Amino acid sequence: MPSKYLARLLMPGLVALLAGISSAHAATVESMRLWAAPDHARLVFDLSGAVNANVFSLANPDRLVIDLDESRLDTDASTLPLEGSAIEAVRTGTRDGGGLRVVLELNRSIEPRHFVLPPNDKYGHRLVVDLEYPGESAVENPIDPIEAMIRDQEMLAQRNNAQAQAQAQVPGSEASPAAPAPVEVQPAQPHPQRDIIIAIDAGHGGEDPGAIGPGGTREKDVVLDIARKLASDVNGTPGFKAVLTRDGDYYLGLRQRTQLAREQKADFFVSIHADAFNSPRPEGSSVFALSQRGATSETAQWLADSENRSDLIGGVDGSLSLRDKDQVLRGVLLDLTMTATLNDSLSIGGQVLDQLGQINRLHKSRVEQAGFMVLKSPDIPSLLIETGFISNPGEERRLRDPVHQQGLARAIFSGIRSHFERNPPPASRLAWQRDHQRQPTGNEYRIQSGDTLSSIAVRHGVPVGQLRQVNDLNGDVIRVGQVLRIPSS
Ligand SMILES: [Zn+2]
Repeated sequence: MPSKYLARLLMPGLVALLAGISSAHAATVESMRLWAAPDHARLVFDLSGAVNANVFSLANPDRLVIDLDESRLDTDASTLPLEGSAIEAVRTGTRDGGGLRVVLELNRSIEPRHFVLPPNDKYGHRLVVDLEYPGESAVENPIDPIEAMIRDQEMLAQRNNAQAQAQAQVPGSEASPAAPAPVEVQPAQPHPQRDIIIAIDAGHGGEDPGAIGPGGTREKDVVLDIARKLASDVNGTPGFKAVLTRDGDYYLGLRQRTQLAREQKADFFVSIHADAFNSPRPEGSSVFALSQRGATSETAQWLADSENRSDLIGGVDGSLSLRDKDQVLRGVLLDLTMTATLNDSLSIGGQVLDQLGQINRLHKSRVEQAGFMVLKSPDIPSLLIETGFISNPGEERRLRDPVHQQGLARAIFSGIRSHFERNPPPASRLAWQRDHQRQPTGNEYRIQSGDTLSSIAVRHGVPVGQLRQVNDLNGDVIRVGQVLRIPSS
């Protein structure tokens, strides 16, 4: 037992030593920062050192109490921008036994969450207190539940199709009982003419300013301007709807951004950035799609590393890393989905790059690939656009210019739009328009109300399977007004 004996000897000294350290290093609250989002508010305490915090709620009236051990306040809490947050007023005082007490008076019920963050390259020790609003969505206009259902049906059909393909590729697994039986007798449904949903993600935000230009321009501000202009272009176009992942100055975790896009049933996700390099020379726009293997260029790797650092600056999302595992589909199915998604991303990326090239210098003339965390959605085509290098003084000036911002937004949207005009999702308004405006030719048939896939097949004397194949029909749903190609028998 010599080690136990040693421990008993050392312990009192150690305790005294630790006590000495903590009282000598009593922390100071150097500043307080507040960010109001639609579904939460985040209060950040910047501290001179690590502290112990105790956070608890009181009712009637609703308050949140934040006790900081052995700390004192060296900032004016009354200047916090409370507007749009659940906080009505902030009171501060000294606790009876010493230490700092901060009381938030609340105008609604909240769920508190807090954590401490160690120093990083932008900030020192921090205590982060999140006030979450139960039942609130992070987006201003969440998707209509019926639209969401239609989109779910489409995605299910696509998945079934991919599953059938996957099974066909695995030898010895012909007709699997798990594959859904085709329902060719299902009558044609009215066309839902749904909107194509574009999730627009303004990078960074809140305590994460992103890159900062030589003139002090913050990436988080210019990308929000561009994102809002892009959203209004999208919303001004019939058949499209925009969803902004953030519409204000607050931080969202990288995983939260893609999760939001998925909740909103987005057809496409675009993350808008303006980055800096460690030299003032590089300039021009770049478009990135995901790469699982590695970056296509050194700059791409450098940018991916710096964008992925965001979560370290902006803070962690406690619960999200676990949920992430549910989103990951498995095996061949995942590969197929990812390949299809990536092909779409690259196709849209090419169109966007073409358009950007007409208004701005291009940093690289093809879509680059790198391991950006924000692009890791297996089922939503996604791009990250570096609109320009904020570290280049000339480009920094242009990025602040509303006319240039509008030009960038327009170029990005026309690239996205031309892709979806060529490849409209089956239930979309664009697909309906394409079919509706087209006069069926001799070997085509426009689906009438009451038709089923098998009745059409019988009438034209072709096998149902062939009809499905030449029309690339995913699943069983056919729509009134849809134009089918009739294979010659
Ligand atoms: Zn960025």
